[in-house]
Amino acid sequence: MSGRRPSSRRSSDYAWLITGPLALFAMLGLIGFSIADDNWYHHWAGGLLAAVGLFASGLAVTNIFIRRQTYSVTITEIPLVLALHYLSPPMVILAVTVGAAASFLRIRMEPTKLFFNVANSAARATVTLIVIAALPKAEGVGPATWAVLFTAVMAGAMASHIAVASVIAVVQGRYAGQVALRAGLSALITAAINIAVGLVVLLVVDTTWWAILLLAVLAAALVFVFRSFTDFFRQHRTLAEVYELTLAVRDQAADGALPDVLLGRVRTLMRAEFSTLWLAPQGRHPEVLLTSRVDDEAGLFDISPTPVTVRDGVVRDGRAIAVGPQLEDTDDRRAELRSANARDLIVVPLRSGQTTIGTLEVMNRLGPYNTFRPADVQVLETIAAHVAVAVENSRLVDRLRYDAYHDRLTALPNRRRMIDALAESVTVQVEAEVVAVLLFDVDGQRTVNESMGHAAGDKLLAEVAERLRGIAGPGALVGRVGGDEFMVTLRAEGIDETLELATKMRERLRGPMAVGSLTLDVDTAVGVSVYPDHGSDPETLLQRAELAANAAKALPYGVQPFHPALESRAVRRLGIAADLRRAIDNDQLEVYFQPKVTLADRHVIGVECLARWVHPAHGEVAPEDFVAVAEHTGQLARLTEVVLTAGLRHCKLWADADRPLSIAVNLSARTLLDSRFPDLVQELLEEHRVEPGQVTFEISEPGMLSDIERVLPSLYRLRDLGVRLSVDDFGTGASSLGYLRQWPVHEVKIDDTFVQGMATDTGDLAIVRAVVGLAREFGLTVVAEGVESELTLGLLEEMGCEIGQGYLFSRPLPFERLEAWLSAQTEPESTPTGEVRRLRAVI
Ligand code: C2E
Ligand code: CA
Ligand code: CA
Repeated sequence: MSGRRPSSRRSSDYAWLITGPLALFAMLGLIGFSIADDNWYHHWAGGLLAAVGLFASGLAVTNIFIRRQTYSVTITEIPLVLALHYLSPPMVILAVTVGAAASFLRIRMEPTKLFFNVANSAARATVTLIVIAALPKAEGVGPATWAVLFTAVMAGAMASHIAVASVIAVVQGRYAGQVALRAGLSALITAAINIAVGLVVLLVVDTTWWAILLLAVLAAALVFVFRSFTDFFRQHRTLAEVYELTLAVRDQAADGALPDVLLGRVRTLMRAEFSTLWLAPQGRHPEVLLTSRVDDEAGLFDISPTPVTVRDGVVRDGRAIAVGPQLEDTDDRRAELRSANARDLIVVPLRSGQTTIGTLEVMNRLGPYNTFRPADVQVLETIAAHVAVAVENSRLVDRLRYDAYHDRLTALPNRRRMIDALAESVTVQVEAEVVAVLLFDVDGQRTVNESMGHAAGDKLLAEVAERLRGIAGPGALVGRVGGDEFMVTLRAEGIDETLELATKMRERLRGPMAVGSLTLDVDTAVGVSVYPDHGSDPETLLQRAELAANAAKALPYGVQPFHPALESRAVRRLGIAADLRRAIDNDQLEVYFQPKVTLADRHVIGVECLARWVHPAHGEVAPEDFVAVAEHTGQLARLTEVVLTAGLRHCKLWADADRPLSIAVNLSARTLLDSRFPDLVQELLEEHRVEPGQVTFEISEPGMLSDIERVLPSLYRLRDLGVRLSVDDFGTGASSLGYLRQWPVHEVKIDDTFVQGMATDTGDLAIVRAVVGLAREFGLTVVAEGVESELTLGLLEEMGCEIGQGYLFSRPLPFERLEAWLSAQTEPESTPTGEVRRLRAVI
């Protein structure tokens, strides 16, 4: 058992500490014995025969495995016994040296090991010969000779094992040496049996040399039986181990420890120096290359000794490649193997269906006498089949897990992941801290998609994602929770700090972004909700942040915290479309009237007609909401007709009663896109016999601006009918007074937000003053809506605003209550055009 693997773990150079003395010892032995016997070289033919015999026996090594232990069985003692009996000592040393060297060369042992083993064989022969020389000389083949030979050969075997243990101790450490020494015991038993067999052979051969023929037959039969026996054991063992490995692979695949477990086991099972797993890159998964090496507890390497050309060949053909002394292969492959400094190699593909997803590789069967055999290829292929399934499954699970929680376009966590993260954050409650949800809604994303294509839209989103990731601090989690919605969640001191932070982040997000050859100005609207103020569960928090973001779009500073009014509106809008249709069909919409008053002489000159709807279940619905619903469900024309009709009917009644009041009806810009609308107006005017000048249409400024080119034709036709046109909510749009001159309008209605703010906010006051001044310069009537206080009224009067409307005078009222209000709060005043209601002096 001369060839246990001295590994290069420390340094194989240390092996010379043992090899050198052994070689010197054998050399001295050879010289000493040849001086004592000067005719020794006459037996050169016998020496040659012995060398051949020793060479052959050196190759006839069989490994047997008993309880996971490998035992190498050699038969070198048999020819040695014969050689010792028939040849002179120097010839024995030479024959042993040549025979051993030949057999070690045959199995391509690496040089360090080869030198040691050859020197060790020669030294062993020398020890044996010295013991024989020291013992009394025995003649013939009787028991005396047996005793001498047995003692001497056993002494040589022991010396040899001590040398092997020493070299292992020197190269691999003391512990390994002790293990080797202990293992030597079984080798000594083998040696003893071999010696006995050798003596029997000697006896038989001594009788007649023809006996060699009989012995050859007997040996062949024994070898056959032995082989079958070990094959049976090996198969049994391999099956059991493959099964165990399969179980291990299945259990480990889910834990991500698969490579470690797999490679370690494959290496042991295949008794290889190296085992390697290579996985081709696949989608998001990078290439994997991991190697396990025997005796290396440091873990796996991410390199592999396998020649890349071999692996490429396996991937290309999808078939295993096995190179080694006992394997079929080509000279090219052998050359590759040599250049990789390897003895033998098996590379098998890992297949998923028809494609090769990777390879499983083993290199260098352990034990100097062993190489991989065709059966080993099959074993590795069986393992590979199991591994491929496990790898596929783990990648699949991995991919599913990843995809389930990430957005493909930006690789950010997706909505599900963000909700989970939020759920986790809210469980950790910290005093004086809130969990904030910031929802960034990308402005104009849809326009980019529609005008530049989805690829451009995707680029824009990726860019926003990138910026947001850079802006958000280390404590913040960024995700994509909708088409153009990004969410950031973080902990903050309170809602005010959160809003401040949201404003800063929005500012930093802004700025031109290059999308293809174009540069886009990107802006976001930010909705903010915080835990615990705005909800306790993650879904609610996110929904409320989305609601707030929606509202933020209308704000110039673009950041809006959640407040309950936002919600009631949105919730109600859902599912009332059908109810609204029914309400219009069944004439359940009501129209309220809110008076308009001239500020100079307090005359009630008209009313604004405002639609009202009381939902059977939800109660009163805000006009903004049902108007929006009507707009989105194609019911706007009917809604407008209902209000206009009601207005005209009452207008006619007031005119007939000789106290005329003009009516104002709100229009959506969308209504003006309908080219039949002016015709309808004309019809209704004629039907109700109302003077066109008594009717004003109010169109909100932002709506008008959004599509002025297409709205203008209707505006001109309406003006030509003789009705009056008013720019409603003036100031909330682009607020460019220049437009007013170009549009065919008669009136400007300053939005109530400015009117309500003017008493306390000098900015609002300045705006109102400017609008009033310019409108008058352009010859337009100015109406201030939302007059709630006397202070406001005084200011408006002072700056020359003509008409006011607001709660200070009256809320919008149903027809009968308006009549009552008129009777109670106003008194008739006769004018040339008829009776006018004048507000009593209270105001
Ligand atoms: P708007 O045209 O700006 O209408 C004025 C709104 O201000 C009315 O709200 C009115 O009730 C309210 N208002 C009047 N005076 C005061 C005041 O002193 N203080 C305060 N805080 N508010 C005052 P309303 O009736 O809720 O209508 C809201 C909006 O709904 C209207 O804004 C208008 O844009 C729309 N709308 C109402 N009826 C119709 C309609 O028949 N057709 C269309 N297209 N839109 C309508
Ligand atoms: Ca209005
Ligand atoms: Ca308004």
